[in-house]
Amino acid sequence: MKKIYFVGAGPGDKELITLKGYKLLCQADIVIYAGSLVNPELLDYCKEECKIYDSAVMDLMQIIEVMKNGVENDKLVVRLQTGDISLYGSIREQSEELKKLGIEYESIAGVSSFLGAAASMGIEYTVPEISQSLIITRLEGRTPVPKLEKLELFASNQTSMAIFLSVQNIDNVVDRLIEGGYPQDTPVAVVYKATWKDEKIVVGELRNIADKVKREGIKKTALILVGKFLGDEYNYSKLYDKIFKHEYRK
Ligand code: SAH
Repeated sequence: MKKIYFVGAGPGDKELITLKGYKLLCQADIVIYAGSLVNPELLDYCKEECKIYDSAVMDLMQIIEVMKNGVENDKLVVRLQTGDISLYGSIREQSEELKKLGIEYESIAGVSSFLGAAASMGIEYTVPEISQSLIITRLEGRTPVPKLEKLELFASNQTSMAIFLSVQNIDNVVDRLIEGGYPQDTPVAVVYKATWKDEKIVVGELRNIADKVKREGIKKTALILVGKFLGDEYNYSKLYDKIFKHEYRK
């Protein structure tokens, strides 16, 4: 029996899928893709007779049923999800159901949207002596967030943050970041549809970003990037410093 392949589709640009993911898409007999977020242009890689399902209109057991029928009939099944599957990918419930059925799976890494967004902006989350950590989080929605992961608690670190799934509540995000300790003038970027052709980048500070985002009409498919890494202050790293010697450069 074949296994199921969970493939990270990348953030949008159809060339930002891995070579491994691309090859699987080319060979797939069945593709179940997350239609609400995955760029449909990626499906151009599939062969003509490939059967394509949009998981946006399916529930978990319907998805599992398509996977089960596929592998039982020796078909190559690809589950295509946006960015990388390890972040907000609802992967755990799918893999647990597959385990119950004794169906094997393999995951293929993808380029997450927070990486696509950074590349689009040409920025680094970990600027020396400004921030050396990145917090990836979200505001609670229908999915609750554990108490110790409240945005205001994370904000007290004042490090770099990439906030998923929250742009529709930008006012709330801003209030809680300020409450947690970020100064009002902390730089913020909202990246809508990073790496897609209709990508939009809105930059501002905590005190004015909400208005700017609303003016642009951005309500979904966006990341909120917050922190001093977006500001003018920076330091050079020691890695390429002429007077700094290390293992490879004596
Ligand atoms: N697994 C995905 C995230 C899925 S959750 C990943 O690794 O990127 C869906 C959320 O991801 C969206 O609400 C949005 O916050 C973010 N997102 C996904 N694709 C995006 C893109 N191209 N640009 C900006 N944000 C994106």
